[in-house]
Parts: sequence; C-alpha cells; structure tokens
Amino acid sequence: MNVVKIGQFIKELRKEKSFTQKEVAERLNVSEKTVSKWETGRGLPDLGYMLPLCKLFGISTNELLSGERLNDRQYVEKAEENIASLVSDRTSPRKKVIVSTVSCVMATLSSLALVLISAYFINELWLRLVLIGIAVMVVVSDVAVILLVAVSTEIYECERCGEKFVPGLSAYLFAPHTFRRRYLKCPFCKKKSWDKSHLKK
Ligand SMILES: [Zn+2]
Repeated sequence: MNVVKIGQFIKELRKEKSFTQKEVAERLNVSEKTVSKWETGRGLPDLGYMLPLCKLFGISTNELLSGERLNDRQYVEKAEENIASLVSDRTSPRKKVIVSTVSCVMATLSSLALVLISAYFINELWLRLVLIGIAVMVVVSDVAVILLVAVSTEIYECERCGEKFVPGLSAYLFAPHTFRRRYLKCPFCKKKSWDKSHLKK
C-alpha cells in the first residue's frame, strides 16, 4: 500500500469535485490539518473515515487504498492485496506475538492429544501412524510460524557497537539463545556477542 499515492489520489478526487480541504474536513467532521495529512501521504484515513470519504468522492475503498480508479479485472487483484496489507499494517508486533504464541500452544496441545489418543485408543497400526504423522506436521508448522513471526517482529541490538539489525532465518534456527538474547554476528562490526532482542516499532 502506497500512502503517498493514496494521498495524491485523494487530492485529485477533491479537485475533480472542486472541494477545498476545508469543505472536505467539514463534511467528514475532521480538522483541515487531518485532510492535509492524508493528501501529503503523512497518514492514512482511519478506518472510520474511509467509507464516508469514499462515498463523498464516489469511489470504493478498494480504489482508495489502491490510489487509483480500477477496472473489473484489477479490482479483484487489488482487493486481496489491500486487505492483506491493511491487516498487517494495523496489527502491532506485540499482538502478532501474542496471537502466534496462543495458536502455537493450542496446536501443540492438540497434537499431544492426537498422540495420546493414537497410543491408547487406536489399535490399527496404520491409523496410529497417520495420527502421529499429523501431530508431527502440526508441530513442524508451529515452529515455522514462531520463526516467521520472530523474524518479522524482532530486531536485535549489537552489544558491542549498538547498531540494530535483523538476523537471517538460519541465525534464528541455529544460534544459541536465551529468552531475550541471542548469540549473533553483527553485520556492522562483524563481531559476535549476546545481543538483546527488541520488538520492532
Ligand atoms: Zn556490532
């Protein structure tokens, strides 16, 4: 999602309708400053203002978020893209961590249950193997989710030079670590140290 493009689009639409920023602000019950912030790409309209804004200009939210008018084919393509980026932009890193932790705990418990059920209640060997196979797959995908969330939300601060960096996937997998620190090679000073993790933003 390109905030600057969206801003320019809002400005164009406003001029087409020959509104001033003040008139748009009055109709939406926001300050003139807010409208100017949208137009210069310094901020996206809050979800609550998107619909009224689109109604005022006679466009869809999908077009607003794409920063241009869309034909039928583009419409579907852009819709998915825009929904995905809205969700990821508005979900804070902390929330992502909580959601992924909870879902991983649930998945781990349910795969444990599967293993127990297959051990105690299922006599057919093949069915047991299938259930255990499913349990293993659930655990593996759990680990993948934890890793992806960690990579997308954590940033490390070098103990030696203080620079911040995001380690690669293999560093996450293989570097020794505690809950808050990881033994990583800093890409700036090239030295290894126990670096502290922070959440992005
Ligand atoms: Zn460093």
